[in-house]
Amino acid sequence: MAWYKKLHWKIIIGLVLGLIWGLISSATGTADFTTNYIRPFGTIFVDLLKLIAVPLILASLVVGITSLNDMAKLSRMGGKTIAIYMITTTFAITIGLSVVNIMQPGKALPEETRLNLMESYGENVEERDEAARELLEQSPLQFLVDIVPENVFEAASDNSNMLQVVFIAILLGIGLINIPMQKGAVLINFFDSLNDVIIRIVDFIMKTAPYGVFALMAAVIVDLAGDDLSQALNLLRALGWYCLAVIIGLMLHVFIVYSSLFKLFSKMRLIDFFRAIRPAILLGFSTSSSAATLPVTMERVEKNLGVNDEVSSFVLPVGATINMDGTSLYQAVAAVFIAQALGMDLTIAQQLTIVLTATLASIGAAGVPGAGIIMLVIVLQAIQVPVEGIALILGVDRILDMLRTAVNITGDAAVSVAVAHTEGLLGDLHFDDE
Ligand code: ASP
Repeated sequence: MAWYKKLHWKIIIGLVLGLIWGLISSATGTADFTTNYIRPFGTIFVDLLKLIAVPLILASLVVGITSLNDMAKLSRMGGKTIAIYMITTTFAITIGLSVVNIMQPGKALPEETRLNLMESYGENVEERDEAARELLEQSPLQFLVDIVPENVFEAASDNSNMLQVVFIAILLGIGLINIPMQKGAVLINFFDSLNDVIIRIVDFIMKTAPYGVFALMAAVIVDLAGDDLSQALNLLRALGWYCLAVIIGLMLHVFIVYSSLFKLFSKMRLIDFFRAIRPAILLGFSTSSSAATLPVTMERVEKNLGVNDEVSSFVLPVGATINMDGTSLYQAVAAVFIAQALGMDLTIAQQLTIVLTATLASIGAAGVPGAGIIMLVIVLQAIQVPVEGIALILGVDRILDMLRTAVNITGDAAVSVAVAHTEGLLGDLHFDDE
């Protein structure tokens, strides 16, 4: 197959063309055209992916649990998954803190730039602050209450209730393995064929991915730059060190933590892992949403990485909601950057508080664009750094969101490989679009 016909290359081409289009559109003052006539195609693409997320989780998890047929295995796998998720997140935050303390990007921010940024983005902070404040007023155990839905249809009606759908699917699956085989067969077959249909639909949607990604990229650039490209470039220059600190941290995390994970728990090489799941990573990058990317992540992890669906159907939906290594690392860097820029030196105790709160904040962040910065408010409040400091980093957040989401997805897929290997449920690698 010619290289440009392979899916990941088509997506990369769409991405680059979208970027070029966005730049031209901003430079020629036609940002409105892009917003009105190009962006909707990106939105449609993301909506298509979101549309199948809930039925996919339900069908694949019910099928996964009924084929496990063993409660002990299910709880062992659950425990293992959560433990590895927590460990990788702690490593991510530690790496973020190390990088930001060594590079000290906040101290490099000129006073004048700081004042300008606070003035231009100050207003937007209020919205995020309010959203986070509502969360803070809840009981610390609210997240447990939120997992259990009171109504099936309500749970399935909102993609941010992903854990509730996981909960319903687990209950259904457990119920099914506890009734006589012939009685459950109808439902099991139903979910089994629903699962197959949805996997097919993912294939159809992925055919439109290069166009969707083009539209999404063009819209992001136009959002960032408006009709004045030079302003966006100035912003990037001013916050260059901060962005670099986040990027270096994310790269270190991927190369150190995930390759160690593979060394410990599987024989897989990092490079093969990336080759197998690259369309999912590219989609995570362009949509900035772990939740929207989930159907593609599942498809890649099962078909190409060889992870049995008994594992992936549980590990991935849970991961898309609670495991966000990229987000937690970014929150650590951002919190310390803001403190540095405001001339505050953080004590060791405050930095340890960041480890704890960024873990919780990343678990609490939904897999949607911009969720990480809302939860950052909680980290800042815990270390008594003024929330208004978020104004400093808002301008470049969309770009960093793309990168951290790609890492979030990589983390979920890496953990599913580790869990599958330890359970003897890891098959062979396939590179079918090569
Ligand atoms: N966009 C991220 C995700 O979907 C969450 C975040 O804002 O960090 O994984």
